[in-house]
Amino acid sequence: MSVVVRSSPILVGRALTKSWTVPGGRLEVLKGVDITVEPGQTVAIIGPSGSGKSTLLGILGALDRPTSGELMIGNTDTARLSDHELAKWRGKSLGIVFQQFHLMPSLTALENIALPLEIAGDREALKKATDAIGEVGLFERKNHLPKELSGGECQRIALARALVTKPKLLLADEPSGSLDPKTGEQIANLSPTAHREESGGVV
Ligand code: ADP
Ligand code: MG
Repeated sequence: MSVVVRSSPILVGRALTKSWTVPGGRLEVLKGVDITVEPGQTVAIIGPSGSGKSTLLGILGALDRPTSGELMIGNTDTARLSDHELAKWRGKSLGIVFQQFHLMPSLTALENIALPLEIAGDREALKKATDAIGEVGLFERKNHLPKELSGGECQRIALARALVTKPKLLLADEPSGSLDPKTGEQIANLSPTAHREESGGVV
């Protein structure tokens, strides 16, 4: 006899809409998006500039609430969670690489990567951050400040910071946008592999 255990999705969005109030009316950016992310799955959201990719990632990362529709994380409807509960979920389960990276300018590359672990009280923060900076190929840059790094290097530091907590789900906004094709390919290979091991998802 064999038993097949089907794991449940990490995240499900149903009929998601988002509109912004702008001078002269409402701008409807998302008009009913359905999306499911299963463990181990990599999902690419593709569309022209201004089509709503960053808006959708903000909603999937529960940084922003949809105007209508439903976002389930695991079996929980995010509409029933407070902002504080969502922040806790993000800290525990989510890695995010923002389009503008959002590195702390006064911290070194290594300190930026260690930060989420230090916030979580992990005593091995610096050791884990040192391993993570090696994985993105920037060990020699560990004591540099963000302003001393190129855009692509900052992006790899932001990726290492997002992965260092071993999140269930990685959200990356234009993840290879600042990288040359070769580094972009290395990074594309790095993130899903790292996450398949932990049975996470990547969007
Ligand atoms: P993309 O990431 O695909 O380039 P965005 O999600 O950033 O697109 O933006 C989609 C549309 O929503 C754009 O027209 C943008 O101007 C508009 N938009 C995004 N954020 C806001 C906001 N906070 N207020 C008003 N309009 C916004
Ligand atoms: Mg964008």
